[in-house]
Amino acid sequence: MFSTTIAALATPPGTGGLAVIRISGPKAEDILRALFVPANKSKAFAPRYFMYGHLVFEGRALDECMAVLMPAPNSYTREDVAEIQVHGGETVVDSVLKAVFALGAVPAQPGEFTRRAFENGRIDLSQAEAVMQLISASGKLARDAALRQLEGGALRFVRDAQGELIRLISGVTAAIDYPEEISQEEAVGEIAPDLLSLAASLLSACDERSAQILEEGLNVVICGKPNAGKSSLLNALLMEEKAIVTDIPGTTRDLVSGSVQIDGVKVHLQDTAGIRDSNDTVERIGVERAKKAIKSADLRLMVLDADRKPDQEDEDILNLISGMDNLYLFNKSDLLTPRHEDYFEAYDLPKEQTLRLSALTGEGLELLKKRIREFAGQPGQTALTSLRHMSLARSAAEALIRAANAMQQDLPLDLGAVDLNEALAALGEITGENFSERLLDEVFSTFCVGK
Ligand code: GDP
Repeated sequence: MFSTTIAALATPPGTGGLAVIRISGPKAEDILRALFVPANKSKAFAPRYFMYGHLVFEGRALDECMAVLMPAPNSYTREDVAEIQVHGGETVVDSVLKAVFALGAVPAQPGEFTRRAFENGRIDLSQAEAVMQLISASGKLARDAALRQLEGGALRFVRDAQGELIRLISGVTAAIDYPEEISQEEAVGEIAPDLLSLAASLLSACDERSAQILEEGLNVVICGKPNAGKSSLLNALLMEEKAIVTDIPGTTRDLVSGSVQIDGVKVHLQDTAGIRDSNDTVERIGVERAKKAIKSADLRLMVLDADRKPDQEDEDILNLISGMDNLYLFNKSDLLTPRHEDYFEAYDLPKEQTLRLSALTGEGLELLKKRIREFAGQPGQTALTSLRHMSLARSAAEALIRAANAMQQDLPLDLGAVDLNEALAALGEITGENFSERLLDEVFSTFCVGK
């Protein structure tokens, strides 16, 4: 338990209907009692019941409020916690926090409430991270994955792996300690296959691509020659007038972007200028940016103008994106004489990646969304959903494979044992059992103050 009492605003700063001030630590109850004057003075503070009253400090009323006291250990941090709901204005919040600090609390660091919940043993590290993931979830799927992790989904998987690894390590240790009873061949024959299958199960729990999509969303770039209908497509997907649509080629000089949710996945869309050579400095900078965005995106939507013949500008972009993950869209297919066939004749476009579309009428838009969603895959379906956990599980798996290989090459068992302990340590870093200050600082520094 910590000796200090921490306090912070738990809701976002700024003006709002309500602001919640959270206090945790040994002085939480005293501070609340010193500030809070219940409206009904005959009522005692009942744990975990909201009370209505006023905050008064040094004879001055600060605000009317609702307050609740959650005595240890049944609280978020397992310490005494007081939460005060005041009106959400900066002046009110400042004056209440000042009073709380004057009464002996100290300002909380980012993530410090959740860190206390972890260090006081209420949650493990993967659950603490899940809290953060939940707060910053980029889409419904990310939220569901964070909730599963908060409820111990990843923990169970890692615990099982730890249990299995401890069993294998004791097998190796026994063979090292009692060579006359267990021969090296016997130990290797029994243990090495299990090490490899444990490594395989750890690796199959790591789907970094999905985790990245889950944490950050899918980056999709719209490219194509000027006037192909890129801005119209961006607008149609965003369902708002974000990009400027005109029939003057080259109007989208800078990158216009926006995000949408497609079936639970956050999709970041970016419109790009054409990539033709230009003498205009501003346009040239736009082209360079566009090229960069095109290359770094997860998926490219190449808009082809079915109203015009294929030309050099199409070809330049098609060359630039060749070999990448692309969808080819024949836009303006509402027109009477679309020229799809000209494009098929001119370029070797993969048929299964092409789509007819009209950004104007919306025809083909649902199918396009479906294709984008399919491309994202099923993020959040593996046992591990966070990139940090995956990188640790991967190092554990690599250490297991090294150990199995060393054993199979008849190297002394002690050598393999070193790798096995390394694997165990990596798994322990997921749950926070082998935590170092550095690790905790790193994890909790991504939190916001008040959480
Ligand atoms: P960008 O330069 O590639 O961003 O193209 P815009 O979105 O600005 O569109 C260029 C012109 O094509 C505008 O006049 C749009 O109204 C028109 N346009 C875009 N999509 C379609 C479509 O699907 N059908 C038709 N008929 N016109 C379209």
